[in-house]
Amino acid sequence: MLDTKLIHSLPKLPTPILTVYLDTNPANPRNQRIPSGARIWLKSRAKVLAARSPRAEQKLFREQVERVDKFLRSPAPRERGMVVFAGPDVWLELPLQVDVEDELHWGRPSLTQLLWLLDEHQPSGVVLVDRSGARFFRFWLGEIEEDAKEFFRLDISQWRKKHLMPPAQPGMQKTRGSMRDVFEQRVEAQFARFFRDAAEKIAAWVQREKLRPVFIAGPNESVEPVWAALPKTLCEHAARVKGFSGKITPAELQQRIAPESDRWKRAYELAVVNKLLAQSNGRRAVVGMDETLANLQQGEVRELVVVRGLGGKLRQCVRCQWADRSADPACSACGGERRTIALRAALPELARENGVTVEVVAGEAATKLRAAGGLAAWLR
Ligand SMILES: [Zn+2]
Repeated sequence: MLDTKLIHSLPKLPTPILTVYLDTNPANPRNQRIPSGARIWLKSRAKVLAARSPRAEQKLFREQVERVDKFLRSPAPRERGMVVFAGPDVWLELPLQVDVEDELHWGRPSLTQLLWLLDEHQPSGVVLVDRSGARFFRFWLGEIEEDAKEFFRLDISQWRKKHLMPPAQPGMQKTRGSMRDVFEQRVEAQFARFFRDAAEKIAAWVQREKLRPVFIAGPNESVEPVWAALPKTLCEHAARVKGFSGKITPAELQQRIAPESDRWKRAYELAVVNKLLAQSNGRRAVVGMDETLANLQQGEVRELVVVRGLGGKLRQCVRCQWADRSADPACSACGGERRTIALRAALPELARENGVTVEVVAGEAATKLRAAGGLAAWLR
């Protein structure tokens, strides 16, 4: 699983460096041929890029392309996609379990596609709960990983000892049922307490790890009481996945969660876009490319909502970095020179500079938002 510390270190990689994004999905027919479509694409794109690279760097560039090609020739199993950063003293490969588009860059490390992928795939959580305990999993970029330190076991071995011992003074205990009934009631009370404790632990974990949504998974008899004990605000970003045993393996759990996760995300995105469109009066929210970009750069935006794969070009001032769609060759703020830049490249940077979270939407939400300019935002 990707590590956020590693991601933050990427902009500091020494230059020049080769950045390769590749669709290596074994299910893609192009990758079932030999040589694979990924290798063919890399070779042909490298030719184009070599022609544009500084003469002094040509040899270095070819060496790095060759290293990546050698890696692709090795018979290791492939993920759906990958990113490689390769330089004379650097080799960093990030396998990705999500769809990646082929890209090749030379010079500075190119993080644009990675930033979009990270915005699109926020980490979510899965808590597998049954009567033996609760296990905590992070679900991110198509991978699942257990958070073992959160593991929460219910130890019932002590109850039996404590509660099935005969009372010290017979006759003191006035119960209507048999000893067994008393025991059963106490066991149920312990389970109820365990489920409440689990809910409390889940709420703290979700907040600390910034997970959205969290799925409460397992057999019905365990999922329901945990769900009932969760804070109501958390339930807005949570869902139940019921009807299976707590003995499921992480791989099976991932298979069960992936479609639920997609469904949840599509419904959530649609609700967000509907709400945005209803409240886009310029006070709480803005909709449309120009107005959103202006508010973003003025520091007025809290959260950006953008259609996945949004295209278009901006002009950006080389001096103060102000970017908009006007054709003006000089910056209206500082008079500096303006250069054309793809919106796709500019947006993740603008969002990060302004401390804004980005929600990337697809499906029906994207269709609605695209009709309104493809870009919108919640204001501070
Ligand atoms: Zn300027």
